[in-house]
Amino acid sequence: MTNNPTIAFQVKAQDEGKPSGKEPVLGGQLRQKAVWVDESLCIGCTYCSSVATNTFSMEPVNGRARVFRQDGDGTDLIQEAIDTCPVNCIDWVRFEELEDLRAKLKSKNIRPLGLPPLR
Ligand code: SF4
Repeated sequence: MTNNPTIAFQVKAQDEGKPSGKEPVLGGQLRQKAVWVDESLCIGCTYCSSVATNTFSMEPVNGRARVFRQDGDGTDLIQEAIDTCPVNCIDWVRFEELEDLRAKLKSKNIRPLGLPPLR
C-alpha cells in the first residue's frame, strides 16, 4: 500500500454518460422495463400519482397522469400504482419503445379533461 496522498488526483472519475434506463433503481435492483401512461385513456383519477409519488404526476394542462421519472420508486410500488388504475392505461414497456409511444401520443388530439369531445 502506498502513502502517496496525490493518488486521489491521479485516478480518473468514471464517465457516467447518458442514462440508459438500466441503472440500478431504488433498492439496488435492475429494472428491465420502463413504465408508460397512455394519456389518451387516462381519466385523471390521480390514484397512480398518489401511490408512486416519485414516478407519476398529473400533467397540469390536460389533467392526465404522466411518468416523470423512471427510477423514482421501486418496482413493487409502481406495480401497486398500475394495479390501482381503473382504466388499465399504465403499462410496462421496453425502454426502446418510449420514443415511439411519445411520438404517437403527440399525434393524438388529447383534450383537457372536463371539456366535451371534438365533433
Ligand atoms: S390511475 Fe390511471 S386513470 Fe388514474 S390518473 Fe393514473 S393513469 Fe390516469
